[in-house]
Amino acid sequence: MNKKLIQLTELTRFYGGNTDFVIAGGGNTSYKDNEHLWVKASGVSMASIDETGFVCMSRNALQKIGSKEYAEDPETRERQVKEDLYGAIEDVQGKRPSVETSLHELIDFPFVVHTHPTMVNSIMCSNHALKSTRQLFGDKVLFIEYTDPGYILFRKVRDCIEEYRGKYKECPKTIFLENHGVFVGGNSPEDIHETYNSIVAKITTTIKSALPVGESCSMMQAAQLKDVCNELKSLDTNAQWASNALIQYYAVDRSRFELIAKPFTPDDIVYCKSKYLFVERPFDNIVSQVENFRHNNGYRPNIIVLQGTGIVALNDNVPLAEIALEVFQNMMKVSWLSNNHGGPKFMTTEQIEFIENWEVESYRRKMSKEKH
Ligand SMILES: [Zn+2]
Repeated sequence: MNKKLIQLTELTRFYGGNTDFVIAGGGNTSYKDNEHLWVKASGVSMASIDETGFVCMSRNALQKIGSKEYAEDPETRERQVKEDLYGAIEDVQGKRPSVETSLHELIDFPFVVHTHPTMVNSIMCSNHALKSTRQLFGDKVLFIEYTDPGYILFRKVRDCIEEYRGKYKECPKTIFLENHGVFVGGNSPEDIHETYNSIVAKITTTIKSALPVGESCSMMQAAQLKDVCNELKSLDTNAQWASNALIQYYAVDRSRFELIAKPFTPDDIVYCKSKYLFVERPFDNIVSQVENFRHNNGYRPNIIVLQGTGIVALNDNVPLAEIALEVFQNMMKVSWLSNNHGGPKFMTTEQIEFIENWEVESYRRKMSKEKH
């Protein structure tokens, strides 16, 4: 067993350390034998994980979740499923499995690596997601249209795998999730690498126009961004900025901003929220624009796009502001590359609301825990 956990650790670090596959807390991995499934614990970074970063689960208990009836009301249902998921933990160290663990159990391969790769999402978050998936990968992959995460997604993936099994007498190695990412199953780490490499290679052939290059901005732009960050300090929060050729492309004017104005995936909402503030030049009333945004939307913007200049992330927590800058730039890459597949396809208002309510719920729980 130990050797397999070492292999899982290496595999997890490999994908976790590459921002083309994993940004911030997105993604998870697992290994299973006949009885147990070891899945990455939530809150543990994939890039720096060691063998203690996995939670050992009972497969028998996980399988019971699939056949049980849960409440209709989403909030009650998700709580019940989570209780059963925690009940399947065999470890004693108090680590928690990711909510995506039950999806790992469904995939009938020893190793499973789930990531949100930029390249894959350039198709998954495009208007031709299904069409391009079939053109590039044929019928022997699963494509799951967008489904609210949690138990509903689990049931959808389970049904699709069953249908696939009926047709091909085997479990699919690749499961694409619209506006989300991909699950890859394999018999060994090499098997996983081979599948990922072939996915990325095939998508690369579809790119007609490369991403804008250039990592820096002008001294003038940097000075303006620093001034804005200084001014925003009056809001009693941290402001971090970024600017480069890609950011400047989307910051040119409001119509460009519209191409990145909504989230593509649930993770985008978690780190950047679902609405972003575009500020036209000059930026002299920036603080009141932020206050107006807060008044209209009920929260302060996590991301501000400054016309022709750069982006600013606001967060009380500096590392979270830095992550938001990274996640937002990834949204720009996805938007750019989605032009090879019919253009960007954002999450719908209903899909966004489901995640926002979920977030509010988990936030509320966190706050009440901290108070007691
Ligand atoms: Zn995911």
